[in-house]
Amino acid sequence: MNKRAFLEGFFTASTVAFGGHFMWQRIGQQDPLILNQATPRRPQLMDTKSGITRVGGFKFTPIEIQSAQPTRGIPTPAPVAQSADPAGIAGFSDLEVENYLRKIRNFDAVFASDIYLDPRYEPLLLKTAQHLARVEAYIGHGNFNLMSFDEMLQSGRDFSRIGEFKADELNFLEEIFFANPHRYGFFGKKISSEITESIAKAEVTKISGTGHFLLRGESLNLYEQIKRDVGGQVVLTSGVRSIVKQMHLFLAKTIEANGNLSRSSRSLAPPGHSYHGVGDFDIGKIGLGARNFTADFSTTDEYKKIAGLGYVDIRYPTDNLFGVRFEPWHIKIS
Ligand SMILES: [Zn+2]
Repeated sequence: MNKRAFLEGFFTASTVAFGGHFMWQRIGQQDPLILNQATPRRPQLMDTKSGITRVGGFKFTPIEIQSAQPTRGIPTPAPVAQSADPAGIAGFSDLEVENYLRKIRNFDAVFASDIYLDPRYEPLLLKTAQHLARVEAYIGHGNFNLMSFDEMLQSGRDFSRIGEFKADELNFLEEIFFANPHRYGFFGKKISSEITESIAKAEVTKISGTGHFLLRGESLNLYEQIKRDVGGQVVLTSGVRSIVKQMHLFLAKTIEANGNLSRSSRSLAPPGHSYHGVGDFDIGKIGLGARNFTADFSTTDEYKKIAGLGYVDIRYPTDNLFGVRFEPWHIKIS
């Protein structure tokens, strides 16, 4: 099969492409890949604020990190130095709540209680994320946003430049998908229960010039209404995203975070837990670049206008209960 035929097939069916549904079968069991806090192998870490050099964690090179990143799409958020606001937590006395807020406000910092992937999975994490990066590079950033797990498997079988996904990678993806993220500090609800769930391609619209898609109906209507009310500087920065796309973002973020799952999930919902799968979308300001995915976006006139519209809600406000940083750019669908 050539690439063009593949991509045509990609859009011919709403939920089932290629004339068949390649159900993923669980291939055996393997050791749990997420360390418990009680596990002696857990790296001993100090808070970054303490200034003590941490030991443990993964040690990826900048080239390895780069090779696993999405080709385009969500820019890596720049760490934002957010000083804790004592007034905001004045009402809380519980130390745990205080620690929780400290974490989501300093989402890119490393905390002693953060949970890591078992270091034995370091090569597999890198290999799998690089494999997903090859899929994205080959089929294109826009198409990859919608790619289902079965389509991912098929692309590996069809194209030697991608290469077939092997049992160790598939087990790893499955373990990540089915792990309970409460263990590492993410408290958002599970949106997709099956790894093979797919986005109905007949129900999405490509937003020109963005490489992203929106679900027709509420999402598309809301985006267009915001554009009308706020003006041309507002742009879609991420729309509907499949489980595979979220998987790649999450693994790439985890590599960047040296295996620290708590740190990656403070910035990005684990696969199966992202509301981007059901209609939420991200907006930004043209020209703001990667800062669209930082708290800086909330200082723009565009954000202030959006906040004043009265009909727009954001999914992750400051000090939310999901374990996620403040995301002023992430628009909530009811
Ligand atoms: Zn988002």
